[in-house]
Amino acid sequence: MQITMVGAGYVGLVSAACLSDFGMNVVCVETDRNRLDRLLDEEIPFHEPELETLVRSNRADGRLRFTDKLENEIEDSDILFIAVGTPMSRLGRDADLSQVMAVADEIARSLPTDRVVVVATKSTVPVGTAREIESRIAALRPDLKSGESFHVASNPEFLREGSAIDDFRHPDRVVIGVTSDFASDLLTRLYRPISPRGVPIVVTDRETAELTKYATNGFLALKITYINEIASLCEKVGANIKDLETALGMDGRIGSKFLHPGPGYGGSCLPKDTEALGQIGSRYGQTLQLIETAIRVNTERVKSIADRVAETAGRPLQGAQVAILGLTFKPETSDLREAASLTVVPELIRRGARIRAYDPKAPDEAGARVEFAGMERANSALAAIENADVLLVLTEWNEFRGLSPVQIRELLAGNVVVDMRNIFDADAMKQAGLIYRRIGDLWIR
Ligand code: NAD
Repeated sequence: MQITMVGAGYVGLVSAACLSDFGMNVVCVETDRNRLDRLLDEEIPFHEPELETLVRSNRADGRLRFTDKLENEIEDSDILFIAVGTPMSRLGRDADLSQVMAVADEIARSLPTDRVVVVATKSTVPVGTAREIESRIAALRPDLKSGESFHVASNPEFLREGSAIDDFRHPDRVVIGVTSDFASDLLTRLYRPISPRGVPIVVTDRETAELTKYATNGFLALKITYINEIASLCEKVGANIKDLETALGMDGRIGSKFLHPGPGYGGSCLPKDTEALGQIGSRYGQTLQLIETAIRVNTERVKSIADRVAETAGRPLQGAQVAILGLTFKPETSDLREAASLTVVPELIRRGARIRAYDPKAPDEAGARVEFAGMERANSALAAIENADVLLVLTEWNEFRGLSPVQIRELLAGNVVVDMRNIFDADAMKQAGLIYRRIGDLWIR
């Protein structure tokens, strides 16, 4: 089977690498010249565990190629996946579909007349997008008939950055939205290498597939927001969030995943997808009150981190040296999209704090971001901590977990640690002489 994957981002590149590893011939199309050149040099443009090995081995075996010429690949493709970005639009809360529609138009112009092709969206797109793509192709190519010469399907992707390869290979389910047996059969055949392992394939209509993706991310955002609120209540009533979280997660009706309190959800998906879901609700006259509330509560939570730092330090932040550990939105990724750091750093700087931050994988270019103007980057966790008044943990990279409380105490000029990921042992931190504030622990200064 010949697959074309348009977009070599987290989803496109991981999907292309995994599908080629399943034995398919895959070409990955990327128009960002810098990104393409790096891929052609066998350099992975972002951090994702195992991805480099997979890309190298499948390239070496001739099953994975990279190009920027989509038009040359269309004729021979059985399935054309659209895996480009769908960021929040600049003017509203909708998903910006300009990248998706540009690809759809390009595909339309080169679709062959003598063979049948399936065009499938892997990008997260609002309800009705597959139908719109179909209409655009039909308008640009009146010589081709939808459902005969081409089929447009929805195949949303559920992988998580940081464990993307494993998630792609072992998904909880695959969702395929189609209007024809042809598209359903072809896409089901594509996922055959994983289906014998008992992975269910849900075949449905396109609208349901599109909405399932948003409903999933909306639910995950609600779950995180809920545990964050319960953690805040624990801080007031003196309940233990760790034990509570464990007991709650053991309830089979609830499940333990996405039930860890933190600085508020961020990343490339949940913030934009909850906004887009809220917008879909508004557009159809069905306000999604839970989602709207989660967005508001989450935004307030991220914004309140600077207050928490000042309150814990017991002093205004003017002139304070703050060490930050972790800038990415979660560990095992170099992705900074909607990371808490993008809100917290400028707010701390606005209050007069000096920031020295360390992150193992945040790209060097991150320093040029306007949100990080005035922030110093350290090249190790210890270098960030040295002589700081306050230590703030924003991302739970494994290497931070091993830091010794005694060493932290010795390196800090002050003695305040605000941990937004609960990575340290509270007793050990306190024994080392630190004022240690975790999420969900009773807080009395
Ligand atoms: P990304 O920004 O990392 O990658 C998109 C890539 O597409 C970029 O490299 C861009 O240069 C390229 N591109 C844009 N226009 C192109 C064109 N015309 N031709 C070829 N390449 C083009 O985005 P991502 O994180 O991979 O997300 C892609 C989609 O998948 C989004 O809709 C996102 O919501 C969804 N998604 C993302 C994740 C995730 O964890 N990142 C998980 C599930 C679903």
